[in-house]
Amino acid sequence: MSEAEFLFSLAPRPSVRIEGRGERFPVRRIYCVGLNYAAHAREMGKDPHLERPFFFSKPADAVVESGSAIPFASMTGDLHYEIELVAALHSGGADISRESALEHVFGYAAGIDLTRRDLQKAARDEGKPWDLAKGFDHSAPLGAIRPAAEIGHPRAGRISLSVNGLVRQNGDLSDMILDTAGIIAELSRYVRLEAGDLIFTGTPEGVGPLRPGDVAEGEIEKVGSVRVSINK
Ligand code: MN
Repeated sequence: MSEAEFLFSLAPRPSVRIEGRGERFPVRRIYCVGLNYAAHAREMGKDPHLERPFFFSKPADAVVESGSAIPFASMTGDLHYEIELVAALHSGGADISRESALEHVFGYAAGIDLTRRDLQKAARDEGKPWDLAKGFDHSAPLGAIRPAAEIGHPRAGRISLSVNGLVRQNGDLSDMILDTAGIIAELSRYVRLEAGDLIFTGTPEGVGPLRPGDVAEGEIEKVGSVRVSINK
């Protein structure tokens, strides 16, 4: 199909910077894992022994380049940060085995899963879907991807986030309930994964609100950082 066949011109493909390279990583889909750190599950009022991690998604064009200033999200009074390790896939498949899962990971980045916490809690309590609590404009700030060929597949290391220079989240990747390989294996039972997919792997404890004018800065040991400011 040539572009002339479409009713209007196609939107640019969302993409993410790759550290040290000119080419960018084109984004196909964004998946996220919920309740993947026990201490965060507890702060959300859940029992990590009773609830398995689960999956949800964000639109691909929710990605925001690290260093950007973004508007305070509409329709919320409780916009939360969640620092997360993000896996970027350069291949995929369905029913991927745990053993082969990491072959599909091109690299990793630090990302922030911005969340309208008030909408999420209301939807949860009312038994409604919480798509719009997670998937909205500018809801996926992302640092540059670092190739696994250079940094390996991080299983442990500090994952932290500060707001205006004060540390708010301070966890360790080794506390993930499902590791990256386990996430890919389980998620690929529900959907076929493909090159260009990003997976936000869950957040440690300490989530909290952002206000207009705040600067959130996340860092993951050996992976990199992500920084976003909220417009006044
Ligand atoms: Mn999250």
